Amino acid sequence: MEYPAKFPQATVPTPSLSRKPDWLRVKLATTPDTAFVRKSLRTKGLHTVCEEARCPNLHECWSFHRTASFMVLGTICTRHCRFCAVKTGKPAAPDELEPGRVAASVERLGIAHAVITMVNRDDLPDGGAGHLAATGRAIHARLPKTSVEYLSSDLMGKSEAIAVLVESKPEILGHNIETIRRLTPQVRSRSDYDRSLNFLRTAAALNSTLLLKSSLMLGLGEEEHEVLQTLAELRDTGCKLVNIGQYLQPTRRNLPVKRYWHPDEFASLREKALQLGFAHVYAGPLVRSSYHAGKQLQEILKA
Ligand code: SF4
Repeated sequence: MEYPAKFPQATVPTPSLSRKPDWLRVKLATTPDTAFVRKSLRTKGLHTVCEEARCPNLHECWSFHRTASFMVLGTICTRHCRFCAVKTGKPAAPDELEPGRVAASVERLGIAHAVITMVNRDDLPDGGAGHLAATGRAIHARLPKTSVEYLSSDLMGKSEAIAVLVESKPEILGHNIETIRRLTPQVRSRSDYDRSLNFLRTAAALNSTLLLKSSLMLGLGEEEHEVLQTLAELRDTGCKLVNIGQYLQPTRRNLPVKRYWHPDEFASLREKALQLGFAHVYAGPLVRSSYHAGKQLQEILKA
């Protein structure tokens, strides 16, 4: 489906890129829970995407919601995406005890909806799918009432690896498209736009009732009609949940921000995404793929 370039572009002037607009300023408040979350993770030798990706919501999630998104399979990624702060290199072998430690940590923190993400592991035959699935199963076995959400790499598009994730029965299976088709080669190393769409399509074919989710970031040079085209293509795969947020340059080595999208533009995109048939859409400057993920699942189940 082609999405026509008929929608008006930003009517709101973009602020100077050297200075973040007010709507991106976050309060760095801490509570005793911040230290509790940090200590719980450190003592178990666990990692989070909150820290590794320098998420701007860390203070909110850790301090006020006592939640975090776990990152399994180490902190070294085999790819080198230009938007991402995670280190690239040769990762260590998977730690077989990690799934159990993640489950124990989910219990200790009282997390009701556990989001588990991973680095790209192109060095492993299954891309790390078995380890991610083992983590989901460990959580479900220990905490039957806790829901599990995976944020998976593309697993090189291997359908048997995607099946491993689907068969482990997460409540939500996510894979991020990250950006529009035109910008993918510049933004995501060794990833492919169509491979990402096929990931979601394959998962939908394996289990049509599974909630599929994807996310994209804005501010890398995309036009609105290209964003709408991507949303339409995501929807066509069977994906039902989408999150849209503002890209922020995590380090000077990463791609610069081309534009700050205004909160009103995010609100407008949300409406248009809902019109495309998504069951749930979070769109806002600070929205990330795991942003208020538990609340999102509850809202869908209620609806
Ligand atoms: S939005 Fe997600 S990645 Fe960011 S701090 Fe919250 S749980 Fe962590």
